Amino acid sequence: MKYDVIIIGAGPGGIFSAYEMMIKKPELKIAVFEAGHELNRRKCPIDGDKVKSCIKCQTCAIMNGFGGAGAFSDGKYNITNDFGGTLYEYIGKEEAIKLMNYVDDINCSHGGSGTKMYSTAGTAFKKKCVQNKLILLDASVRHLGTDINYIVLGNLFEEMKDKVDFFFDSPVSDIVVNEDGYKVVSKGQTYESQYCVVSVGRSGSKWMEEVCRKLDIPTKSNRVDLGVRVEIPSVIFEDITDELYESKIVYRTEKFEDRVRTFCMNPHGIVVNENTNGIVTVNGHSFEDEAKKTDNTNFALLVAKHFSEPFKDSNEYGESIARLSNMLGGGVIVQRFGDLERGRRSNPSRIAEGTLVPTLKATPGDLSLVLPKRILDGIIEMLHALDKIAPGVANEDTLLYGVEVKFYNMEVELSEKLETKYPGLYVIGDGSGVTHSLSHASASGVFVARQIIDKQ
Ligand SMILES: Cc1cc2nc3c(=O)[nH]c(=O)nc-3n(C[C@H](O)[C@H](O)[C@H](O)COP(=O)(O)OP(=O)(O)OC[C@H]3O[C@@H](n4cnc5c(N)ncnc54)[C@H](O)[C@@H]3O)c2cc1C
Repeated sequence: MKYDVIIIGAGPGGIFSAYEMMIKKPELKIAVFEAGHELNRRKCPIDGDKVKSCIKCQTCAIMNGFGGAGAFSDGKYNITNDFGGTLYEYIGKEEAIKLMNYVDDINCSHGGSGTKMYSTAGTAFKKKCVQNKLILLDASVRHLGTDINYIVLGNLFEEMKDKVDFFFDSPVSDIVVNEDGYKVVSKGQTYESQYCVVSVGRSGSKWMEEVCRKLDIPTKSNRVDLGVRVEIPSVIFEDITDELYESKIVYRTEKFEDRVRTFCMNPHGIVVNENTNGIVTVNGHSFEDEAKKTDNTNFALLVAKHFSEPFKDSNEYGESIARLSNMLGGGVIVQRFGDLERGRRSNPSRIAEGTLVPTLKATPGDLSLVLPKRILDGIIEMLHALDKIAPGVANEDTLLYGVEVKFYNMEVELSEKLETKYPGLYVIGDGSGVTHSLSHASASGVFVARQIIDKQ
């Protein structure tokens, strides 16, 4: 079968790429191949009753399928060049922000318009941070929330499903470079196209590596972020979260001069397990729906580690530490901050006696047996620094869940048009190593769609 454009992966990168071409150049024949299910068939079998833990489905309903890894996420679209990826290094800061705002308009016109946009512009909170050796990064953030994010994706699919050929449950196994385009192989069938846009996200990282090796496309190793998820009573951070929702705060530690940063803040949210290739780590969610809100707020504290010589595999380092926590705790470990500072493990009665009710059932334990000292010291220092701007963060009953790991794909060598050395073969989104967020991945999709449209 012959197409003008084949897109591999229906995460935000692939969806926005297809959407832009469908709207701006309807005559283009577009196919999207997705390893996972369509949106309404994405259901994780873990129900806490009959199925209590991961049964290793052929494709993970949480990470794969229409909407990609972001489908059940908190739907925080951060409009900023300060974090979420380095798209601006390729396309320029102004263009990157313009595209992220454009994506926001599309989300709003597909069900997200009632949600709130928060901004750090003009906040007095910035000064308070500086006075306490903390840096507040600049951003605007549209918080769709898990529920509205799902609705927006559903509306986008409804609009696209008759105009774009979607192939679900169809992992692409190979890309072959032809003289006049590309051959894409899925489930033993071959499909041809003039342009090919690869948008396989984090879950497609191993396959992406294989493709780059086979096609001799150079790659560079990326960093891994390691740390814990912090849970506190919402009221402690309310001044900050009410005004900014998601604040990205960076602290430079005194001891090692490492940078510790807050990540993925979930006011009135819940802490959740995340399963990556059978390794259980921790994450967080929050909801727009008032009925689902809790009395707790959670956020991650992360330290970046990048290895180069002789050990290069930053992700393997992160995985090993996560595996260690799983070995000791059978999954995620939870510890009271007071217990950590006293050098003792938390146990069920110490957690139960605390004033904070955990939103995730995790194994009480000792994070100092899991996280390297340098990382843990940094996290402890940062909690005390945050305590100065939001008294109570470093309380004894503050809960720390570990480990939280953010893996990044290796960086694929791309031109400033996000094109590989093969004309018409583009790599976008998290799979390229260039983006690590919903807004950057989506913006990269629109950017490449426009490159293809301009060539018509
Ligand atoms: C729990 C969670 C919460 C998050 N919350 C946020 C948030 O609030 N804000 C934010 O900015 N970011 C968040 N993120 C990150 C965000 O989801 C990603 O940055 C974003 O989804 C990347 O988009 P993408 O299109 O590049 O890749 P993905 O969303 O990963 O999509 C890639 C798609 O490609 C498919 N695929 C892979 N290999 C193949 C193949 N060989 N053939 C066919 N299909 C293939 C996959 O099945 C997948 O559906 C969160 C992530 C998780 C896991």
